[in-house]
Amino acid sequence: MYLSIVVPCMNEQDVIPTLVDRLAVAIEPWKQDAEIVLVDDGSSDGTWEAIQDACLHCPNLVGVRLSANRGHQVALTAGLEAAKGDRIMMLDADLQDPPELLSDMMRMMDNGYDVVYGRRIERQGETLFKRATAYGFYRFLNMMSDVPIPRDTGDFRLVNRKTLDAVLAMPERSRFIRGMFAWAGFRQIGIEYRRAPRTMGETKYPLRAMLRFAIDAMTSFSTKPLKLATRLSFASLGVSALMAIYVAYSLIIYQTAPGWASVVLAVSFFSGVQLLTLGILGEYIGRLYVEAKNRPLYFVSEELREATPVSIRKSA
Ligand code: UDP
Ligand code: MG
Repeated sequence: MYLSIVVPCMNEQDVIPTLVDRLAVAIEPWKQDAEIVLVDDGSSDGTWEAIQDACLHCPNLVGVRLSANRGHQVALTAGLEAAKGDRIMMLDADLQDPPELLSDMMRMMDNGYDVVYGRRIERQGETLFKRATAYGFYRFLNMMSDVPIPRDTGDFRLVNRKTLDAVLAMPERSRFIRGMFAWAGFRQIGIEYRRAPRTMGETKYPLRAMLRFAIDAMTSFSTKPLKLATRLSFASLGVSALMAIYVAYSLIIYQTAPGWASVVLAVSFFSGVQLLTLGILGEYIGRLYVEAKNRPLYFVSEELREATPVSIRKSA
């Protein structure tokens, strides 16, 4: 059993030494068959040099450097594609997710689970704003999403090769990895932990990045926003029907100016119709969108093949 740990890093030069130390301790029981994949996501500080340095001390280390900053989720994908393990753990570089949970996660996986995801029961040292928006986000996402996505779950998880290959087979460009793992299915279980404050450096998720992340999440897992127009059109048609009654009434009772009634009716009715057609278009675009993503329809859960061990990188 070969183990991979994947960590995306962007401008994390100060954290890398501590990170590698903590990870080296965590993988101790498996260190003969383990690798730590650090992905440098186009950092502008000394992250890559820090990774190179760490490589000198830690034989299990693998460094992957991206040509430019591609964002957290893409960097993570790059690491997952580079990983050779039969089991793969992913976590953030800032040590908010304790690597020490690895042995518990491994034990749970031994019991037959395919994914053991970390579930934050507490977030220490994060602003009230971050906690509140995160809380709202996971609940709203689940309202909109067609796949239930475990709440308060980040990318901190241990997955097996089967699940990882399933997720890597999804070709979409806007990647919301925790949702993709949820969508993949298989046997999943959560493990609760307290999220520590960031050890060093600062968050790479300012409000703008959080919003983009939320929109990616929403549009990758739901076409409900597109369908909003259809619902609006029904509401609008309903209102225009009520208005028709009112218009007829005032025509008879108040003798309103000629032309008024037909204008009001036409405006309200046709705006309703316009929204309806927009809604229909939305339905089609939504389906096209899902098609264009070209996700495989099913996954082969098991495969028999020649017992070829994964190519195990010889520690230098
Ligand atoms: N990260 C990355 N590329 C980016 C932004 C972030 O690789 O463009 C990494 C970052 O180094 C960290 C992880 O993604 O390992 C999560 O980022 P951060 O801890 O800043 O997010 P927060 O915990 O504040 O939500
Ligand atoms: Mg963090």
